[in-house]
Amino acid sequence: MDRDADVIISGAGPAGSIAAYHLQKSGISVLILEKSSFPRYKVCGAGLTHKILSILPYDISPVIHTVVHSFRFSSGLSDVYTRTNELPLMYCTMRDELDSFLLEKAVEAGAKIRTSEKVTGMEQDEQGVIARTGNRAYRSLFLIGADGASSLTARTFGLNKHIEWGMAWEAEVRSSPEILQKYSDTVFLDWGTFPGGYSWIFPKKDHFSIGTGGPAHMAKRMPEYYDKFIASTGIPILETMSNRSHPLPVRTKKSDFHSGRVMVAGDAAGLTDALTGEGIFWAVKSGSMAAEVIWQNLQGKIPDLALYSARINSEIMPELLEAKNIGSLFNAMPLRVHHWVRDSERVWRAFGKVLRGERNFTDVPGAFGTWKFLWKPVCALSSVIQRQKEKHYMKHA
Ligand SMILES: Cc1cc2nc3c(=O)[nH]c(=O)nc-3n(C[C@H](O)[C@H](O)[C@H](O)COP(=O)(O)OP(=O)(O)OC[C@H]3O[C@@H](n4cnc5c(N)ncnc54)[C@H](O)[C@@H]3O)c2cc1C
Repeated sequence: MDRDADVIISGAGPAGSIAAYHLQKSGISVLILEKSSFPRYKVCGAGLTHKILSILPYDISPVIHTVVHSFRFSSGLSDVYTRTNELPLMYCTMRDELDSFLLEKAVEAGAKIRTSEKVTGMEQDEQGVIARTGNRAYRSLFLIGADGASSLTARTFGLNKHIEWGMAWEAEVRSSPEILQKYSDTVFLDWGTFPGGYSWIFPKKDHFSIGTGGPAHMAKRMPEYYDKFIASTGIPILETMSNRSHPLPVRTKKSDFHSGRVMVAGDAAGLTDALTGEGIFWAVKSGSMAAEVIWQNLQGKIPDLALYSARINSEIMPELLEAKNIGSLFNAMPLRVHHWVRDSERVWRAFGKVLRGERNFTDVPGAFGTWKFLWKPVCALSSVIQRQKEKHYMKHA
């Protein structure tokens, strides 16, 4: 079969560009097909937790706008306090800049890219994969679907099972230079107000990104919560430059992430953290894993791509499933957690360690010592309470 590349990647978000970079660096040729033209705006808070630095293969400081040390917490849009960490907790960027930067790195490594080239169909046989666009059919040995939340790849190959949908609104807003300066290292977080969701403000170099996220079935109440949140912060809004929503896919069970010669990574695989909505870290992690597994297969070390599903299920899913449990527990007793973070050094330090990648969500049950055996039943009960709270909010709030 005449091939356009060893691997075709559908989608040039973080999952696609990182996979392309690693593949090219290990001598495997890549063609990326991307439906948009770059740079493109992406609805995203673009907050990167510190832990991402440990899995990125190069420095991304040229596209970092701000470094976050402080969180200004509120619950019920009041009960405000700020906590500060000496070491950085997060980095804020803009997705048009970050994604162009990551794509440039992949291209520098040798990847070919066709932008404004939407994949409209895919098929595979024992020899390889075909990705069809409006222009032509492209052929390769493998295909990585890094095509985001509404992934055609996942739908085509039946890799979209066990996904729960979140929804998030994001606005880019201008404020006064004094306010931007004052909060340039601070994230605003209102939690415990909107069941199963929260609102945030991320500082960027010349504006704020403000958003609200939660379960998709509660989306119609989000704009109202968003407006109340902004009013509660006292941040003066001079101009709203964009305001859009986008779905967040959350995988709720261990699953298949490959089918034959095809893999899905990032949002296409439903790898978003149900507690925080974080997805860029998981896109980078799964994109890197996809590249490693293809390399191992081409080296003859493994017979097929089954290792990819096995690694996602053992190295990523436990953390995402625990994030969901912790989210349910938080939503059952938000005010208590809000006050723990305010009053307990230990809890605030643990919060920082999770963002910095020094602790994992999977460590949390162990913190309950001999009571650990109650973790699963308590989380299951919390999840029932959360559903009730969501129903109540939709009817009455
Ligand atoms: C409002 C909001 C705020 C968020 N904030 C954060 C945050 O602060 N931090 C964080 O870590 N995560 C955040 N997320 C999640 C994060 O945006 C995603 O998890 C992340 O973008 C996933 O990266 P990806 O590479 O898998 O997919 P994407 O970034 O979605 O990239 C997919 C790419 O595929 C292309 N594509 C799609 N279909 C096709 C096709 N048929 N053919 C060719 N190309 C195609 C798209 O144009 C796109 O460029 C947020 C999400 C939302 C909705």
